[in-house]
Amino acid sequence: MNGLWSKVGCRATIAQMRYSPERTRDCAAWLVGRQATVVGIVRHGAYALIELDGEREESPGGVLRWPVHWDDLEIYNSLPQPGQADVYRLGLSKGTRRAIQHAVPADSTVSLCGMRARPLPLLEWSLPFVPTAARACSECVLELEQRAKLAAVSGRTSPEPR
Ligand SMILES: [Zn+2]
Repeated sequence: MNGLWSKVGCRATIAQMRYSPERTRDCAAWLVGRQATVVGIVRHGAYALIELDGEREESPGGVLRWPVHWDDLEIYNSLPQPGQADVYRLGLSKGTRRAIQHAVPADSTVSLCGMRARPLPLLEWSLPFVPTAARACSECVLELEQRAKLAAVSGRTSPEPR
């Protein structure tokens, strides 16, 4: 299961639709070939939870997140900032038409851009913040990039523990 968690945050293409759950396979014609981001793990590691690129309105039933079998995905193992993004939890802010995804430090309920955001629990875990997600907060992404630059300058690979 640990190996699977390293795939959360990776970009993926839906390559085929042979082993995924029936509900996902029902939309195979629409899903195969789409680009997505792995945002979680479901069914005890059997499936990846992916979030499709694009707008909710374009998706079947307005659903952007689908459980897809790992073997139906082509995953690119290049995280944008290895060791950086995964220490921030995903927090959602409401009030706008669509929930924006903010980066929330592990010990806080306030995001990097200063928003009060609620962490989004999925099963037992919190979801990591994914800078490449379609609805990632641009201010949080900027702040993450600046912290990554600082970390690179000081030769660190992870943020200062507190
Ligand atoms: Zn933010």
